[in-house]
Amino acid sequence: MNAPVLVINCGSSSIKYALIDSDPQAPRLAGLAERLGSSEARLKGKNSAGESFIQQLPDADHSEALSAILKCLEGRVPGAVGHRIVHGGEHFTQAALIDDSVVAAIESTSALAPLHNPANLAGIAATKKVFPELPQVAVFDTAFHQTLPPRAYRYALPEALYTEHGIRRYGFHGTSHAFVSQRAGELSNRGAGGWLTAHLGNGCSTSAVWSNQSLDTSMGLTPLEGLVMGTRSGDVDPGLHAHLHRQLGWSLDEIDNALNTQSGLLGLSGLTNDMREVEEQALEGHPGAKLALGVFCYRIAKSLAALSCALPKLDGVIFTGGIGENSPIVRSEVLSLLPHFGFSIDKAANETTIRGKEGKLDSVGHGGPEVWVIPTDEEGRIAMETRLCVESPE
Ligand code: AMP
Repeated sequence: MNAPVLVINCGSSSIKYALIDSDPQAPRLAGLAERLGSSEARLKGKNSAGESFIQQLPDADHSEALSAILKCLEGRVPGAVGHRIVHGGEHFTQAALIDDSVVAAIESTSALAPLHNPANLAGIAATKKVFPELPQVAVFDTAFHQTLPPRAYRYALPEALYTEHGIRRYGFHGTSHAFVSQRAGELSNRGAGGWLTAHLGNGCSTSAVWSNQSLDTSMGLTPLEGLVMGTRSGDVDPGLHAHLHRQLGWSLDEIDNALNTQSGLLGLSGLTNDMREVEEQALEGHPGAKLALGVFCYRIAKSLAALSCALPKLDGVIFTGGIGENSPIVRSEVLSLLPHFGFSIDKAANETTIRGKEGKLDSVGHGGPEVWVIPTDEEGRIAMETRLCVESPE
């Protein structure tokens, strides 16, 4: 398929889009329709000359926003639409050409991602209306982690919770972990070896990838498990929920809200969920910001060390995501907590590998595990998987 792929990421009131050519170097048309369903709905984007535009779309719904997006594609006609779908449960081990049975399977998984899957389904329905003739493909955040063995995905809970209710670890950010581990294999000439990947953005997760397959990851049933994130707590004692309920009288919704939206960097620093600001304030000596930075980095290092148990051999560690790609401070702090791995870090390379650059942070030729910064490209990976699926559906 030579035509470009339209990649769509639908939230409850937003649609992020990118039109991606089969030539990965070709410029992309990309943008965001936001505040949908309100009088302030609007479409922001960039044209092929790199100029920004904003178009007001008062009260537009998802279908109207997609029609407006179609007009911004400068006459380029997509050959397929690739949807980012957050949760595929155990139904999907790879991307799937969307038909009624795929929609039903995504619906049946909605209980596991109540905020995301219904919005993704709304996006599929709206896309069908606007592009009835185009093949649509679902690309799942969870699918890459379906290769986890039971010892990594099972919680030590009564079996019926797994067999009857699907309570297990699923993992997320799959397209990102898949993309950066494959790219590091190519760049390093080590191929599909053993990689520990750290996707550090507003959401954060680590993964252990062996031979292009995920063997373990830090997120679990939901994207709340694992690392400290912008506003998410990551791991806490499972007894915390009962304690907060019994001692403080908090409802389940209050607990859920506190752990998802008031915790993480924001909760620890008392200031912000934004790592740039946390770093600035930590350098100024703000105690909360210093603590937030310290806990954030320590928990990443601890997770990477733990995940190394999943790998027969370690070829290297990869940093990606807004923080992983741009923060020499976080990278150097995390690596300093992993002395047993034998990294040999080039400080200058760490300082200069920022703002979308890919590069190796360790001294050349020491033969041990390497450290890479690889800007993630989830949209590019979704387009690639969409193309493969349309060309050779299962
Ligand atoms: P993402 O969700 O991947 O867009 O990442 C967002 C996170 O990246 C936010 O916490 C930002 O503060 C952080 N970030 C972006 N640029 C930098 C930077 N130059 N230094 C530190 N953190 C950054």
